[in-house]
This record gives sequence, structure tokens and C-alpha cells, in this order.
Amino acid sequence: MILLDRVTKKYNKNSQALERISLHVEPKEFVIIVGASGAGKSTILKLLTREEKPTTGKIIVGGLDYETLKDKEIPILRRKIGVVFQDFKLLPNKTVFENVAFALEIVGVGNKEIAHTVPRVLDIVGLKGKEKRMPRELSGGELQRVAIARAIVRQPRILIADEPTGNLDPKHAWDVIRVLEKINRYGTTVILTTHNQEIVNKLKRRVITIRDGRIASDKASGEYHS
Ligand code: ADP
Repeated sequence: MILLDRVTKKYNKNSQALERISLHVEPKEFVIIVGASGAGKSTILKLLTREEKPTTGKIIVGGLDYETLKDKEIPILRRKIGVVFQDFKLLPNKTVFENVAFALEIVGVGNKEIAHTVPRVLDIVGLKGKEKRMPRELSGGELQRVAIARAIVRQPRILIADEPTGNLDPKHAWDVIRVLEKINRYGTTVILTTHNQEIVNKLKRRVITIRDGRIASDKASGEYHS
């Protein structure tokens, strides 16, 4: 469960990025956050990943109250949340397999478990058979699916996808969205930000519209018209 209670974020004295945002996301929900550039979408995501701290207000994710979160609990939080970005952020000198495996190696998972887990996750994102490819040998849609595989390999409860289709043509964008839907069906909460009106309107999911740092609307099967 994700709870934001009257969260305000000021990066500096003169500007307010978020103003008293209250938001509740249930486990296994698929939520789309939309809004014009500068509305405050990324700030919400950065607060959830604890890259930023709120100026005031309460944030609780999966039972962890961010206000009282101890440093030693940050790895627990990181494990709960997977993140993918518009620009993929893959390691260019590692293969598809190695990019995904790396997320396990850095937390000390052994080779046997890596050999078992990585192919399973690559299968989920539709990249079976491409384990040995280098990032430069993949399409944008495939790169994003590697990034998704890396984000879910530790089985987070929440997947945050920040404009994951921003660099993709429509076909590849839909391939990525279908993968997000699949992961959601398997029980992961998905939080997606996008500017793509067609995707929002076809998905028929909960849509939260942010305008000037506030929630302008929150609809169960929403639409988006910029
Ligand atoms: P969006 O993701 O919807 O484009 P952001 O959350 O990035 O919006 O930005 C919301 C507001 O906060 C904007 O006015 C932006 O200029 C400001 N902002 C974002 N990050 C910072 C930062 N690190 N320092 C100062 N202001 C920031």
C-alpha cells in the first residue's frame, strides 16, 4: 500500500513543486499519473523512491513510514520498489543477461540462483533467446524490456515506470505497456507516468492528473486530454 498524506514539496523558497497531495494506492493497482511538464509527476516518484524528502506531509510505502525510516531500512525499501526510466539506463558493455544479473550480483545473490532467475524474468518480458545480445544490438522497445526485467528481478511489490515509452515508436511502446500489464497481473503494483494520450485512453486504468503540484482529478477509468 502507498499512502501520501498532505504531502508538500518545496525545492526552494520561491517554488512549490507539490502542494498537499493526498493519495492512496492499493496493492496490485495499475495507476497512471499524467500532467503537463513541470506539473510535479517526477517529484511524486522521487518522493516514493526516497530520492527526495517531502517538505511536509506523511509518506508510507509497504508499511514503512518514511519519516521514521532508518538508514538500515533503506535496502528494504529499495527492494520493494523497482524503477524504469525513459532512457533505459542499461550498462552498454554488458549483455542482456549480464545487465539483469547485475541487479542480483550487487546484493550478493549467488551464481546458481542468478542462472535460474534471470532466464525466467527475460521470458516474462519476451526476450527469451536474446540473452547474449549487447544493448547496441537491440531496438528501443527491447532495451526498455531489459530495463523492466532488471527492475523486477528482485520481485519488488511496486514497479515505477517513469515515461517508459517516451523514446519509443507506437508499436514498441505498446510492447512495453503489455509487459507492464502482465507484471501487474502477476500481482505487482504499477505506477506509470506518460504523455501518450492514446495509451492512457486505451488502457482504461486509474488516471491521476497532476496540475501545478495538485491533484486535478483522480478517476477509476480515466482519460487524458492535454
Ligand atoms: P514533471 O515530472 O511533471 O515534469 P517535476 O516534478 O519534474 O514535474 O517538477 C515540478 C516542479 O518542481 C517544476 O516547477 C520544476 O521546475 C521543479 N523542480 C523539479 N526538480 C527540481 C529541483 N531539483 N530543484 C528545483 N526545482 C525543481
